[in-house]
Amino acid sequence: NHFLRIDKLLSGNGFGSRRDIKRLLHSCSLTINGAVCADAATRVDPLSDRIEIDGEPVVLREFHYLMLNKPSGVITSTRDPDHATVMDLLSPPWSRMELFSVGRLDVDTEGLILLTDDGPLGHRLTSPKTGVDKTYYVRLRDQLDDDLFEQYRRTFETGVSFKDGYQCLPARLARAPGGNGEVLLTIQEGKYHQVKKMFKAVGNEVAFLKRVSMGPLTLDPLLESGQWRELAENEIVALK
Ligand code: URA
Repeated sequence: NHFLRIDKLLSGNGFGSRRDIKRLLHSCSLTINGAVCADAATRVDPLSDRIEIDGEPVVLREFHYLMLNKPSGVITSTRDPDHATVMDLLSPPWSRMELFSVGRLDVDTEGLILLTDDGPLGHRLTSPKTGVDKTYYVRLRDQLDDDLFEQYRRTFETGVSFKDGYQCLPARLARAPGGNGEVLLTIQEGKYHQVKKMFKAVGNEVAFLKRVSMGPLTLDPLLESGQWRELAENEIVALK
């Protein structure tokens, strides 16, 4: 089903609240393919239907932004002949758009993925110079008592070193609500297997990994694994 409700489409494109849209529709100034539309539940194809207000074409947002709760077992790249990708989770019209993932998660990592066709934004969020904080919920193989937690926290705070000599940027470690083996780690960089390598470097191992936030964007707790939604206007503004 690649049709969207007209009220949802317009409110998602900065034309006001659902109530504003209803008012607009009642004024009979909106047409779809030349016919007046007054019903907020009317479904339109944003890619092919001609939508006008007072005879002026409606300019839909240039870029699109989706938040997705990635399940384990799905890969982050756009196309793959052998594996399901995050794009396979989308339905039309999103699946027909040229969206890309801002940053990557390992196949077994879950959580927040931002999909967009906004190249400059994607670049800015992932570039080492202007990159944003990413927070991961981590369940560890070995529990942490207070001493060990404090030891990890300090090591990460100053920048943990990998075996190959690479020194990570400072990262923040906090306890997660839950057991002693559950923590939240906030990192600035996003090198391949970054979080897994950081815990390996201190002698532990990541048993479960889920990204919960990225810059100002937090994973919507209402999104079940594999579900996605468009970003709200305020979330897009916060990212810019
Ligand atoms: N760090 C990892 O090790 N894996 C991810 O998927 C993301 C960050």
